Amino acid sequence: MPSIRRLVNPMSLHPTGALPPVTPKRLVKRYPPFMQRSELVRWLDELLNVHAIPDASLNGLQVEGADEVRHVAVAVDASQTAIEQAASVGADFLIVHHGLFWGGMEPITKMTGARVRLLIENNISLYAAHLPLDAHPEVGNNVGLAELLSLTDIQPFAESGGHLIGARGEFPNPMSLRDLADQIEEVLGESVLVHAGGPMEVQRIGIVTGSGSSFLHQAADLGLDALLSGEPKHDNFHVPFERGISALYAGHYMTETVGVKRLAERLEVDLGLSTEFLLLPTGL
Ligand SMILES: [Zn+2]
Repeated sequence: MPSIRRLVNPMSLHPTGALPPVTPKRLVKRYPPFMQRSELVRWLDELLNVHAIPDASLNGLQVEGADEVRHVAVAVDASQTAIEQAASVGADFLIVHHGLFWGGMEPITKMTGARVRLLIENNISLYAAHLPLDAHPEVGNNVGLAELLSLTDIQPFAESGGHLIGARGEFPNPMSLRDLADQIEEVLGESVLVHAGGPMEVQRIGIVTGSGSSFLHQAADLGLDALLSGEPKHDNFHVPFERGISALYAGHYMTETVGVKRLAERLEVDLGLSTEFLLLPTGL
């Protein structure tokens, strides 16, 4: 366990006794317990096994900010608005599911340049966890959603690059597709699109959050009744109807809020850090 230093009065640490130099955003709130950035990154890398899964995303620390972390913001996307909100709530560290860098080096110009500049100007670190956060057996998007839906016998599912990144499970009692869609809407606060190609009663269901419709084939191979994912792809429209499985789409964004929220809970409980989830829905 990394050491956590708790400060009764953060001002008392300043050698002169004077107020430490702060930017106006630091005056919004103060978060006494803090942690070294390097320790937090090590802890996250280990918890998420962040470099183990082949991924287009450059997972791990993408931009280095303040040495000490007092407040952690979590969000789905590393958008300019997310970074601005992280700065406005006084976060030193922003954890996202969709980071800035995908598939190799990119010039730090235009949109990416503006986002990186905003992070650096506000001394905020950016940490990305894409597939490792989908696949994680405790804080993952898919296991998290399976637990929110009270599935039993939850197991890994959906092979990608030699790793299982989704989850599957069973409802103790079969549920009608309509009730299932209602329950998902209640849990996620997002309307659900249903392509009802499978049985009207669902018992065995696979989950791949985000853009997971291509896993309909694997779900059908396993004889599952339905697949829950985030956003549909036109390419996969006919799959449920031709393979006898139902597809339920509850939004790429909303299905992927689950993992970063669970990760934030772990940071609070295990590390004593203060955290904040930034809700910035895309409607997709
Ligand atoms: Zn995604």
